[in-house]
Amino acid sequence: MTTIGVVRETDAGERRVALAPDDVPKLRRAGLRVLVEAGAGAGSWFPDPAYAAAGAELADRAEVYAGSDVLVVIGPPDDLTALRPGQWLAGLLAPLTDPVLAERLAAAGVTAVSLDLLPRTLSRAQAMDALTSQASVAGYKAALVAAGAYGGYLPMLMTAAGTTRPARVLVLGAGVAGLQAIATARRLGATVTGYDVREAAQEDIASTGATVLRLDTAAGTGTGGYARRLTAAETAAQQQALDRAVAGFDIVITTAQVPDGRPPVLVTEAALDGLRPGAVVVDTAAGEHGGNVAGSEPGKTMVTPRGVTVVGAAGLLAQLPQAASTAYSRNICALLGSLVRDGAPVLDPDDEIHAAIVVTRDGAVVNPRVLAALGSEVGS
Ligand code: NAD
Repeated sequence: MTTIGVVRETDAGERRVALAPDDVPKLRRAGLRVLVEAGAGAGSWFPDPAYAAAGAELADRAEVYAGSDVLVVIGPPDDLTALRPGQWLAGLLAPLTDPVLAERLAAAGVTAVSLDLLPRTLSRAQAMDALTSQASVAGYKAALVAAGAYGGYLPMLMTAAGTTRPARVLVLGAGVAGLQAIATARRLGATVTGYDVREAAQEDIASTGATVLRLDTAAGTGTGGYARRLTAAETAAQQQALDRAVAGFDIVITTAQVPDGRPPVLVTEAALDGLRPGAVVVDTAAGEHGGNVAGSEPGKTMVTPRGVTVVGAAGLLAQLPQAASTAYSRNICALLGSLVRDGAPVLDPDDEIHAAIVVTRDGAVVNPRVLAALGSEVGS
């Protein structure tokens, strides 16, 4: 019988777990055994007895490594050497940003599949789309973080002491996270405007009922449904127009990304200076490669001399681990549903999803995108 292993995540600050107890019965019905490291779900408030009651077996970490055929994870575990040849590893392995890890997995004889390589525009892939499920959780939390840092109300409130005007919220970047931030801010009663460089995203903003901010600048749709990096001249034109537009808002939430990992700066120092004291800017793109807001740092909140609060949002998923784990777990179950045939995981070479997500097999890196990333790494 094929055994699915679940281990505690090793990344600092990570609270999520790859499989929720609620999904264990589904896997059991599919003829799979589920082996969970004791304490693996604790960060998401999924206690060991919940896994046991759902039909999983609890074990220590070494036993999970030794006894599982497919290890499901959020991110790559830091004890990869414990994996053995023939074992499968499934998760968000970020092989494009860390292709050397793929080489190590190949050398260890591990079959690795990574959900961040999923072709996201295929409707059949949607149930496995972990980038979407996690971005949605992050976007929701970003709106709550902004509301928490803001010194005023978000909704219009009519009280005996008078009426408050709703907060004006601007969301920059309207992919999955941005659209969820827009929807959440609207539910909280704010007046919301959205902006994105892709034309399709502008339609998405309009469909939420929010106002679309249109700047008279170049459209920025790239390949695979993602935005492209704008040219220097386009960026300068966008920046000037944005600096002017940002000034009228109470809250700005930024979620803009481009596939090469360096987020564009959309809120400049000049734009921060143009905001009124008490305004709040939440940068969900803040990270080691910069962010969407000048000077924002991941995990840090700063107040500009003018009194604008800038939150470098980091670890949003760790602040909502139960929702994030529950959604991720469903993605993992959908993935296993696609991979497991007659009780064992198999890659179907004719399946375009399998072809896209497989990183390593039979001792080699097989994914063309990862191979290209390795090539450029060797050349750099
Ligand atoms: P992302 O996290 O890569 O980027 C977030 C948003 O930032 C994007 O909408 C992007 O256009 C925007 N952005 C980038 N540079 C910008 C700039 N200079 N100014 C303003 N906005 C900027 O995006 P994502 O949420 O991961 O989505 C990526 C793509 O995948 C999108 O096209 C999305 O619609 C698509 N997708 C499709 C499906 C589906 O069809 N089922 C599911 C999920 C995602």
